[in-house]
Amino acid sequence: MASSSASGAARTILHVDLDAFYCAVEEQRDRTLRGRAFAVGAKAQDRGVVASCSYPARRCGVRSAMAMSLAQRLCPHLIVVSPRHSHYRAVSAQVMELLRSFTPQLEQLSIDEAFLDVTQLVATNPTFAGGSLALEIQRRVFEELGLSCSLGVASNKMVAKIATDCGKATVTTGHSPQALCMVEPGQEAEFLAPLPVSALWGVGPKLEARLKDLGIETIGALSKWPERDLMRRFGRHGADLSQHARGIDKREIVTERESKSISSETTFVQDVEEWEGLHEALQEQAQSVAKELQEQKLQATTVKLKLRWSDFSFSTRQTTLLSSTDAAPVIEEAATALLTRLWVGAEPVRLLGVGVSGLSTVRQLGLFDDNTPREAATSEIHTPQVKPQTEAELHAREERQQRLREALALLEARFGSDVVHRGARPNEGTS
Ligand SMILES: [Mg+2]
Repeated sequence: MASSSASGAARTILHVDLDAFYCAVEEQRDRTLRGRAFAVGAKAQDRGVVASCSYPARRCGVRSAMAMSLAQRLCPHLIVVSPRHSHYRAVSAQVMELLRSFTPQLEQLSIDEAFLDVTQLVATNPTFAGGSLALEIQRRVFEELGLSCSLGVASNKMVAKIATDCGKATVTTGHSPQALCMVEPGQEAEFLAPLPVSALWGVGPKLEARLKDLGIETIGALSKWPERDLMRRFGRHGADLSQHARGIDKREIVTERESKSISSETTFVQDVEEWEGLHEALQEQAQSVAKELQEQKLQATTVKLKLRWSDFSFSTRQTTLLSSTDAAPVIEEAATALLTRLWVGAEPVRLLGVGVSGLSTVRQLGLFDDNTPREAATSEIHTPQVKPQTEAELHAREERQQRLREALALLEARFGSDVVHRGARPNEGTS
């Protein structure tokens, strides 16, 4: 009954993995490949490696990442198909678009894999309960794009991905597995226990060998090992290991928008050694970044500054704003504060760049419900959670909040992030 999530209700995460993706796309192009042993990759004489192999080829022992020469020894009739990567990317984009039609809470892991956080979707659609949503996704990917996929369903990303792998591994018919493996909340540790430690994220051959020296071969054995001892042996990684072995993984879905950044850089014709020259470039860049944010109707919470020195080495610093912004003065002020920390004077600079990340759409923003990290801010400046009635009220509220965000961001850029905590009011420091 206990869920893996210590912070409230269990999530529902789907991991979607297309079955032998490159091969499936090649079979659409050439139907005679269906049911035959073939591999996508460069030819053996070109020191090729298997990028993807059909299920009949897998039955002969052919695997991804295997040298093509070995694959051909294992499977003498293996057909070798040259990869068409741009085509795979185009088909992948179609798949991701279809998946996004279920929820925008999507994290693309690779060309043929994605996580979906469907907690809300399942909670609000009784017809999607149990494995129904996963089956619906499988059906639509197959009917609309002619591709077969496997899914794992669990309360977190790690267990969902391992569930997919387990589901696939149990199908040995020589056909696409179209597997579906569900792990109920509370069953994570039990599900993982019999698996080898190498099934966990971050456990490569080296770590696997060290754990084996301790007599730990299964995830179950690892879960029973004292966490303190793992931390002593493996540092911070030890704590993760212990949690993961118990089926706990708190990582959130990272959507493309969240991982995206916008930046502007200038490489100087001649190295710049004066503050004025650097600051002028910084101002222009802050304006160009703000303009792009506004055009894309986005706001950012993180401002970064990058400097390349005359010996080509880099330094970067970043700061998280108290509230998101798309305003040039706020970005400029934050970047200037970073510049004063990074550049102590007279050191020649080759390149300067201002960037922003932690992006979110303007309209979705409430005042502090988006990604304001500090509780101090909410306790100091309280906005009543009353829903505005009319479009005009909504607009006025939006404007008020925008001004407040800018004021807070300016304050932070000037005085550091804990200024609000010390009790300053947002209109101080901006006048
Ligand atoms: Mg795959």
